[in-house]
Amino acid sequence: MYQEAIKKYLAQHNYEQINLKAVLFDMDGVLFNSMPNHAKSWHKVMMRMGFGLSEQEAYMHEGRTGADTINIISRRERGHDATDEEIKAIYAAKSEEFNRCPPAERMPGAVELLNKIKEEGLTRMVVTGSGQVSLLERLNKNFPGIFQKELMVTAFDIKFGKPNPDPYLMALEKGGLKPNEAIVVENAPLGVQAGVAAGIFTVAVNTGPLPDQVLWDAGANLLFHSMPEFNEQWEKLRDSFTF
Ligand code: CA
Repeated sequence: MYQEAIKKYLAQHNYEQINLKAVLFDMDGVLFNSMPNHAKSWHKVMMRMGFGLSEQEAYMHEGRTGADTINIISRRERGHDATDEEIKAIYAAKSEEFNRCPPAERMPGAVELLNKIKEEGLTRMVVTGSGQVSLLERLNKNFPGIFQKELMVTAFDIKFGKPNPDPYLMALEKGGLKPNEAIVVENAPLGVQAGVAAGIFTVAVNTGPLPDQVLWDAGANLLFHSMPEFNEQWEKLRDSFTF
């Protein structure tokens, strides 16, 4: 069943095969179960600012940079962009709210999958819209020996956030990779759109409250329902790339 999805991708992009060298991981909702905290924090802070943003809607914006999310809500509710000062203030308040939440756990299955991928000699990259300064430290603490600073793309590296392909194109550049030498792992519709727009085979892992169809509609090449399921299916998928 994986071969069908792979063949479809190859035909669309005119590639002979996926020559897998790297796996590009989104962070929130894939490596950490942090999305409930993010959604709650966004909702609380936006309410305080007099903006309407439900937790459910926060999941639809997942993957955007903070500035993009704030401007979309500002345009909708006030008809214009937020000022740079407002963006800074709102993002700071949101980060403060988020940091007050209990620290998000590692996503079950993530460390097992990453260790396998490392043992197989594949490159591991993180591609996130997040701009937290302690990001690498946290990744190293939770996933020892898996990630390197030079092989990460964060909010500091990019001009355009997801769903723009920019973050994933930057990852290909940093990793010295062609689109058919990597796969993307994403949990959010905008993240899936970004991976697909970068021309990369994109695996959706639906770890949140949105229906699967939202991720299929975003263009996902494959879909798993949890990280443990993806981990369990990993060998089968990896072998399907070299049929
Ligand atoms: Ca995510």
